[in-house]
Amino acid sequence: MAIVLSTLLVATSYFCINVIVEQKKVMILTEDINTLQKKYDELVVQGDTLEQQFKDKLAQQQVLAQKTAFLTFDDGPGENTEAILAILARYDVQATFFVPGYMVESYPEQMKAIVSAGHQIGSHSYSHNYREIYASLDNFKADFLKSNDVIKQYTGKDVTLFRHPGGSSNQAGNAEVVSATRQWLTEIGVNYIDWNVDSMDASGQHVAANLIKKATLEQSEYQQAPVILLHDTVAKGTTVEALPQIIEGLQQQGFVLTALPDGADFVQHRKPS
Ligand SMILES: [Zn+2]
Repeated sequence: MAIVLSTLLVATSYFCINVIVEQKKVMILTEDINTLQKKYDELVVQGDTLEQQFKDKLAQQQVLAQKTAFLTFDDGPGENTEAILAILARYDVQATFFVPGYMVESYPEQMKAIVSAGHQIGSHSYSHNYREIYASLDNFKADFLKSNDVIKQYTGKDVTLFRHPGGSSNQAGNAEVVSATRQWLTEIGVNYIDWNVDSMDASGQHVAANLIKKATLEQSEYQQAPVILLHDTVAKGTTVEALPQIIEGLQQQGFVLTALPDGADFVQHRKPS
């Protein structure tokens, strides 16, 4: 009897061990499958991103094949937006507006007007507060995402273009943080873009319209793709005054005027790093 029992016990424990071993194998296999599924999902996302980047590059090349000038307006919308939009419409040209989120919230009607006229919209941060956004990468990320949410309410899509307040090489922020922001934006597929023509409209109070026009046309003349820095703020009335002459001057120089394409990255004061 004792022998039978002990044999039964040995057999039962052998069976139990086998079950545990098999269960363990199943668990390992399940983990493997989950890991593979995760890798596969990541590759699909990477593939989509690469495809989008390729399409963006192609669009950019097509735009840059001809002499093209890009008017970019920072810091709006505001009280001058309506006048700027009327001039752009009169000449039938497209432009790009780099808008801080808090300004969008202050001037919703003007923001709607920019979007419905078909101009390009880029983020110019939410707060435009250098001390805040460049204090740490986390601050910058939170501020950017907030601006993305605000802009998306009007455009229906995520932001693809960004202009750093002060530019991508600004000295106002901690250099390491600013560098990290360039890297991060690139990683999430947002292209930051600076300028290669400074209209000088922000070089002082009430810069004469003639000087703004002169600075813009002189710097643009020998470029294939001037990206022109202008401002859409109430203090920049002379920018509005100079705009018709700037547009006419650029057209006389042989430029087509259009909005920046989604993937624009051809003017960056500092490359991602
Ligand atoms: Zn600005």
